Amino acid sequence: MSSVSRRNFLRTGLAGGAVLLAPGLRAQSTELAASAGARRARNVIFLVSDGMSLGTLTMAERHLRRQEGRGTHWLGLYDRPDLRRALMDTASANSPVTDSAAASSAWGCGHKVKNGAINFAPDGRPRTPILRLARAAGKGTGLVTTATITHATPAGFAAQVEARADEGIIAAQYLEVGVDVLLGGGARFFDPAQRADQRDLFADYARAGYAVVRDAAALRAASAGGRLLGTFDDGHLPFALDHRADPALRATVPTLAEMTQVALARLAAHERGFVLQIEGARVDHAAHANDIGGLLFDQLAFDDAVGVAAAFAAGRDDTLVIVTSDHGNANPGLNGAGGSFTSRGGSYGDTQECFDRVARFSQTNVWTLAGLGPDSSAAQVRERVHTATALDFDDDEIEMLRHALRKEHREGYRVRNAPLVAYGQILANHTSVGWTGTQHTTDYTELAAFGPGSEAIGGVVQNNALFGVMTRALGLPVPA
Ligand SMILES: [Zn+2]
Repeated sequence: MSSVSRRNFLRTGLAGGAVLLAPGLRAQSTELAASAGARRARNVIFLVSDGMSLGTLTMAERHLRRQEGRGTHWLGLYDRPDLRRALMDTASANSPVTDSAAASSAWGCGHKVKNGAINFAPDGRPRTPILRLARAAGKGTGLVTTATITHATPAGFAAQVEARADEGIIAAQYLEVGVDVLLGGGARFFDPAQRADQRDLFADYARAGYAVVRDAAALRAASAGGRLLGTFDDGHLPFALDHRADPALRATVPTLAEMTQVALARLAAHERGFVLQIEGARVDHAAHANDIGGLLFDQLAFDDAVGVAAAFAAGRDDTLVIVTSDHGNANPGLNGAGGSFTSRGGSYGDTQECFDRVARFSQTNVWTLAGLGPDSSAAQVRERVHTATALDFDDDEIEMLRHALRKEHREGYRVRNAPLVAYGQILANHTSVGWTGTQHTTDYTELAAFGPGSEAIGGVVQNNALFGVMTRALGLPVPA
């Protein structure tokens, strides 16, 4: 197949649910494999910034260049002559706007599924995700995330459930599959006191030979070899910005980069290589909340993990590294300032001045509103906002936020009535960062890859085509 028709295949060959489930898929995959050359990968590292619109990546780059005089690790990869790039179409089997379950399943099993499903095809058939195939081939496997470890994105590489909310079932499936390294949040899905069936999954994992750790100190103290389950919160791990601000959180919860380092060190010892997925999950959550501090600093924490993965792969030619996002979310962007004036007619400043303010934020908007309520006084609102952002809201903005806290705020686009979103909109005056909504978007996502097998990537790629890219690079047999 020529490179043109290969790209055509990636663009159109797997689009649409009906085509995906047709028996022709295997034949097409084989054809692509033949064209991709003989380069084989021993390892795959798959990095996902969940819900990352292109504006998020751009702002992370601008922030670092301005504040630290360096760029992101992600965009630094674009200097590599061997880097392959594509735009990725993330539509699911039933919507132009995917959720994380359908997106991760598409990568994980090669089939577009409906939103909410984890590796269950629209015809009701379970599909085999890549970590199970890797296990069957004797490879090491790992999942690392800042969400619950049982959340949709990690689950898409290893679990099979009809509904992503079945996190207690997913926690048990990881043990059955024998995923070697599991690091993230979600202790409540392993804890007998919090599980519906009262099963002590922590004990079951320990019996199966896993080192089970619950805080950062135990993670650092764990012996180097063997299987590892680390859960560092009952729910999701804290946002990077709030984590940084709280010494107690820093002592108990590792960073995504640190978890990535630990996972790679363990998996590198596997004789037959490994497949590891790493997710910066809370970029998505910050975007849903229109929370620029949460968004930017979680993207930067994710980028640190990209740096760790790139350092691991440097100087070796056996590791396929893929960096991408599962979908856009709320499409944040640094807008040109100038048309926005304070209630007294003053200027909020120029664009750069506005964006520089985000660098001085010390807490997320979620943190800020958690300390306020419908009865908060103007003085309380003013002080809480200042503590979190170093900003001084004018009287008008304070009243608007108090209104929102009382659930009385009204805008044309009604998703903006919610207190968190209204607060994000008011902050936009000061930061010049605006948002289009509060949900996932259909925007194509950025896809970057290097290493053996990455040759197949280019143009506009369907998300489920990445499954074939990975399995072919690894030489994994794929069930029909
Ligand atoms: Zn989301």
